[in-house]
Amino acid sequence: MSRPIRATIHLSALSHNLDVARHHATHARVLAVIKANGYGHGMLRVARALAAADGFAVLNVQEAVTLREAGFTQEILLLEGFFTADELPLLTQHRIATVVHAQWQIDALLRFSSAVNIPLWLKANSGMNRLGFQASEFPAALDALQHAGATPTLMTHFARADESEGIAGQLTCFNAISRHAELPRSMANSAALLSYPQTHADWVRPGIMLYGASPLPPQSAAELGLHPAMTLSSEVIALRNIKAGDEVGYGGTFQAPCDMRIGVVACGYADGYPRHAPTGTPLLVNGQRSRVIGRVSMDMLTVDLSNIPEANVGTPVTLWGEGMPVEDVAAAAGTISYELLCAVAQRVPMLEA
Ligand code: PLP
Repeated sequence: MSRPIRATIHLSALSHNLDVARHHATHARVLAVIKANGYGHGMLRVARALAAADGFAVLNVQEAVTLREAGFTQEILLLEGFFTADELPLLTQHRIATVVHAQWQIDALLRFSSAVNIPLWLKANSGMNRLGFQASEFPAALDALQHAGATPTLMTHFARADESEGIAGQLTCFNAISRHAELPRSMANSAALLSYPQTHADWVRPGIMLYGASPLPPQSAAELGLHPAMTLSSEVIALRNIKAGDEVGYGGTFQAPCDMRIGVVACGYADGYPRHAPTGTPLLVNGQRSRVIGRVSMDMLTVDLSNIPEANVGTPVTLWGEGMPVEDVAAAAGTISYELLCAVAQRVPMLEA
């Protein structure tokens, strides 16, 4: 018996979700964020499904070159500005754009004579205190780049776009330093794209919504019109009847309150399922909502089949995806959908549908 676990990637869901983004931000160009191997869905596969995007954001130069070599001609941006001075010729050769967030990067660009041919996105730290120039440093950084002949896009990133009233301070800060520059601007991730039209500007940068997970829980992806792009599924591989008081799994963390029928599912933490998902984490067995019981182990987890009498060896199980929102699993496991999607292990076969 081969292990029945698989991740099915729904290509039409990806393109549908891109349409949703466009529908919300009609006047902006869409930079699809496909870093982290397309949030775990496969970078090239995602890029092909999102070929109508105006650009792609990736993490490193190798990913950007891979996209160029696959024939993508739109903007390709190194979203966190990971490049070395030695890689600047490669950026010019492949017309790869990069975020600029630190003085050493400006110095390296100014030393490199063809740097003016590299599209630059100058990043402001408007309050998240991760990457970017402080408001007080930003005008000098912009001046240096413009002086060298560059026309950068100005950008910032929100720390709390998924919370109500989460962006006000950052928006005020970014507007104050960028509004009069008459250069393209970019602020919005998925949550801001869906919640704050005033952040759309020239480029929006959606990630998670393209993969069909809600950036605004507890609002569901379905309520936002998004379709899940990944279904992680497996099957029941063993059945067991246990007595009241019996324990299940490592550590015996689940003790049956009554006689029960339980199933073993071929999915464990080595597949990317969160080990810390507690008893009660939802999943679908034969399309019906059930729950994980006991500890998730490396290759298996255990489910409650009390209300699913027809379940048998071979019965399908949906860990997340169609019918089982990944953000519900994430919430139960004390994490976010991003982490679950990115963590699907290489040993899980990925199929396209
Ligand atoms: N912009 C930047 C700078 C990011 O780092 C990210 C994600 O990490 C995004 C946009 C996309 O964010 P989301 O997936 O929440 O839409």
